[in-house]
Amino acid sequence: MYHDLLRDARFWSFLTDVDGDLAETARQQACPCGGRLHRANYPRKPRGGPRDLPTAYLSRLSFCCGRDGCRKRVTPPSVRFLGRRVYLGAVIILVAAMRQGSSPRRVRELADLFDADRRTINRWRAFWKEYFPLTTFWKVARGRLVPTVTVDVLPRALLEAFVHSEQDRNGWKKLLLFLSPITIPGGLKIEGSI
Ligand SMILES: [Zn+2]
Repeated sequence: MYHDLLRDARFWSFLTDVDGDLAETARQQACPCGGRLHRANYPRKPRGGPRDLPTAYLSRLSFCCGRDGCRKRVTPPSVRFLGRRVYLGAVIILVAAMRQGSSPRRVRELADLFDADRRTINRWRAFWKEYFPLTTFWKVARGRLVPTVTVDVLPRALLEAFVHSEQDRNGWKKLLLFLSPITIPGGLKIEGSI
């Protein structure tokens, strides 16, 4: 289910445009000190994409305040990169979701398709099942989901809540935008932690 779309470079170009809009919004808001923001992208080498992944994926959009004495870094949310993780965000969601209830053979096929070994996939599963539900983001954001998504079927339930068919890239856009607050520095903090 759903994996053909993620092998299509056009899907990833579409998400690049969404990230461009998110970055432009952040840039217009300027630095909290009032300084202007300048482009200061991070180099990235993402995994899990198709061979013809657009070259725009070699950077995570980011800004730096231009005012002397501030130089604060502002990194906008992203629908492409899940924080500092190497694999593309949509791949981390999809493969972990498809891993649920799949045969070992199917899991091997997925691992090959998305260039991730079994240990990596198990780490993603642990992230969605054990860590993500504890985040402050999830505790607040899950209230906005209708119908209610239960924790024991994450991330599959999230995928199904937003993406309604194999080619539903707008569904993906909504899902990735919903999750985008966790992609900025500090976005994955858990309740009670600093
Ligand atoms: Zn500043």
